Amino acid sequence: MNDKIPYKIYLSEDEIPTQWYNVRADMKNKPAPLINPATGKALGLEDLNPIFCEDLNKQELDNDTKFFDIPEEIQNFYKMYRPSPLVRAYFLEKALGTPAKIYYKFEGNNTSGSHKLNSAVAQAYYAKKQGLKGVTTETGAGQWGTALSMACSYFGLDCRVYMVKCSYEQKPFRREVMRTYGANVTPSPSNTTNVGRKILAEFPDTTGSLGCAISEAVEAAVSMDGYRYVLGSVLNQVLLHQTIIGLETQKALKKYGIKPDMIIGCAGGGSNLGGLVSPFIGEMLRGEAQYRVIAVEPASCPSFTRGKYAYDFCDTGMICPLAKMYTLGSQFMPSPNHAGGLRFHGMSPILSQLYHDGYMEARAVEQSSVFEAAVKFARVEGILPAPESSHAIKVAIDEALKCKETGEEKTIVFGLTGTGYFDLVAYEQFNSKTMTDSIPTDEDIAASLAKLPKL
Ligand SMILES: *Cc1c(COP(=O)(O)O)cnc(C)c1O
Repeated sequence: MNDKIPYKIYLSEDEIPTQWYNVRADMKNKPAPLINPATGKALGLEDLNPIFCEDLNKQELDNDTKFFDIPEEIQNFYKMYRPSPLVRAYFLEKALGTPAKIYYKFEGNNTSGSHKLNSAVAQAYYAKKQGLKGVTTETGAGQWGTALSMACSYFGLDCRVYMVKCSYEQKPFRREVMRTYGANVTPSPSNTTNVGRKILAEFPDTTGSLGCAISEAVEAAVSMDGYRYVLGSVLNQVLLHQTIIGLETQKALKKYGIKPDMIIGCAGGGSNLGGLVSPFIGEMLRGEAQYRVIAVEPASCPSFTRGKYAYDFCDTGMICPLAKMYTLGSQFMPSPNHAGGLRFHGMSPILSQLYHDGYMEARAVEQSSVFEAAVKFARVEGILPAPESSHAIKVAIDEALKCKETGEEKTIVFGLTGTGYFDLVAYEQFNSKTMTDSIPTDEDIAASLAKLPKL
């Protein structure tokens, strides 16, 4: 607290970046292309345009353009809730007694409560620009659906959300936020789509999964005129939009001459982590700097640490394109843990390639240890963190405690992706000591990997 770093480093409004950064342009080994499962060929615009918005497809396939201008309408929307603060966690450092310096980039200061709004507003903008009536999507814990419903109401688009059933039941409040912004919300699997009916027939008691909700949302989009499907994570375009997080962080750190040693983020589909770390990994790819980048995932859904790097479907219904990524298999059904946003069987193809090439480490952590970290953080830093974000807190604390042992004054930056106000069922279980950890066995994972598509 004696050094001159403020508690909160805010950029001014006119310092908000006006371009997104495309890390693919700096990657020697490009992420593998999406493949059409029917033909085995790489997907082109003509394959993607019937499902997704045109301008977004151009971003998706572009491995070469380093910077994309952020349209003025999106910049204006960003000004409502950005820049987000980079906070020095002085109180956490003190509570831990660590010589490490800890910073977190807080993305929870908007009604959707997470970073997802950064891409939702971009995707809704391009859908509107294309003259569409509306968009369909899936949502896990509800953050993406909430963000998208806010963005759609801003641009006057219809928004149809398939919400993973266990979250729909556990998180009625988020559902109501979506409906308040005018979205139509359906629990998934549902009997409103062919793929939903098929999954229900096979697994009548399923509590749903992101992969399954994706299948339903895609089917709904392609069967309605004037609709396209939008996705809140995994895709290259989503990582691109989320680089606003990393670019702001990089600028704020530079302003005070701070060089991070470690950058930590939670990884579900990889969008917040990709967005936070892309500009820093770009420096590594160009040979300008060296950082330790750590992806943190739940032990119940460990795609990086126990999955396979292979082509797989992005959805349980196996109707989406194939992506080469770290995956547990599209038929993997994670236990209904409380970090809904991290329950995806696969991982961003960009991050998968970077991890494969050694630019990132990954760690899997158990739910109860994550909530211990969440509570410790909440009590000293004031913010009630989302369960997903708390995965990053857990590893940031672990690393800070290692510094305490070695006496090293490392600088740790982590992504605090959102708030946990709608996750109080999870906190209730933790507080009343009824929370359990559920870790898949090697046999579970092998059985699901055995069903990977053969190319
Ligand atoms: C969705 C979500 C995540 C995980 O998604 P990524 O695409 O991996 O970033 C993490 N934290 C919060 C708060 C979320 O809503």
